[in-house]
Amino acid sequence: MPEPLDPHVRKRFQGQRVRDTKPELAIRSAVHAAGLRYRVDARPAPNLRVRADLLFTRVKVAVFVDGCFWHGCPEHFIPPKNNAEWWASKIEGNKARDHSARAQLRRLGWTVLSFWEHQQPKAVASEIEKVVRTAALATGSRTHTPRTWPRA
Ligand SMILES: [Zn+2]
Repeated sequence: MPEPLDPHVRKRFQGQRVRDTKPELAIRSAVHAAGLRYRVDARPAPNLRVRADLLFTRVKVAVFVDGCFWHGCPEHFIPPKNNAEWWASKIEGNKARDHSARAQLRRLGWTVLSFWEHQQPKAVASEIEKVVRTAALATGSRTHTPRTWPRA
């Protein structure tokens, strides 16, 4: 990939490479504080080349916290001036890959939640909590479905 020459761009570029970004950590700790347990940076399906940022395996909820730069946030993505065309197509490719991987997950029965890293971590965490608790209830009630057929 071409090296961005502008030092400001390079700085942002390097910042984006950090795996555990601040917003993601804030979300994770808020979700943890709410009493939920999850896997981090894990694959929902072994044959899909996609890793979720937070994964709730039992209730099949996969959470993605997308970086505004790499995932092309409509509010914050500005292509670097150098190689602008290359960047635009790179980010378009990322978006297309996100879209198809998440569609595949949904077809496999996963609930997919996508957020932007610019979103308020507390609000994101409470949305995640709501969805996971609802999914857990649904799973629980299915296991406890009363038998309706008459006993012999
Ligand atoms: Zn953004």
